[in-house]
Amino acid sequence: MGAAEHLAALLDLALPASCAGCGVVGVGWCADCAAALKVGPVRVRPRTDPGVPCWALAPYAGPARRAVLAAKERGRRDLAAPLGLAMAYGLARLRTPDRVLVVVPAPSRGASARRRGGDPVLRMARAAAGWLPDCRVVPMVRVWWGVRDSVGLTIGERQHNLRGRVSVRRGPLASLPSTVDTEVVVVDDVLTTGATARESVRALRAAGVETSAVLVTCSA
Ligand SMILES: [Zn+2]
Repeated sequence: MGAAEHLAALLDLALPASCAGCGVVGVGWCADCAAALKVGPVRVRPRTDPGVPCWALAPYAGPARRAVLAAKERGRRDLAAPLGLAMAYGLARLRTPDRVLVVVPAPSRGASARRRGGDPVLRMARAAAGWLPDCRVVPMVRVWWGVRDSVGLTIGERQHNLRGRVSVRRGPLASLPSTVDTEVVVVDDVLTTGATARESVRALRAAGVETSAVLVTCSA
């Protein structure tokens, strides 16, 4: 944690809670910002096509963008619950009835996730699954250490950075219910180029798991 993030975290402790989306004091996430995440999901088409339908709860702007950044960069763990609830609404609309829904968090770069106090996507996915019947989170896609943060990279650099580095963990894979009864959705906080989603879908397919959709909080 850098000095600025440390100061922000201290201020979060010292001051009354403020909405991560709009700054209103008194709550960590206000009703207006929550409503803004429940209008979708909308279909999005990233430049790097993952080969399955991609959906987003909101554009990468305004309260949704600020909330994702606060969860990711400022360690606002309290946002996992409201972001997870919004994701649960989206998943409920996308899922096929009478199937077990398997939610696979997109992989985070291990070192950066730890530095920021955990994996906000995994935390959000677990919060979402808590609201849904017949839903399990299976964090089975990982990215090998050494992958740099994708911030500031071009599309080409991003794809090169991830190519062949995303893989499926065999232990969680073995715990999956039979494929005829399940539906797999990959979730992430932000969809930018689509490179992470595509490599995740590709790795799952290589392991014999077909992904039915990608759902993200924000699409850039
Ligand atoms: Zn707000």
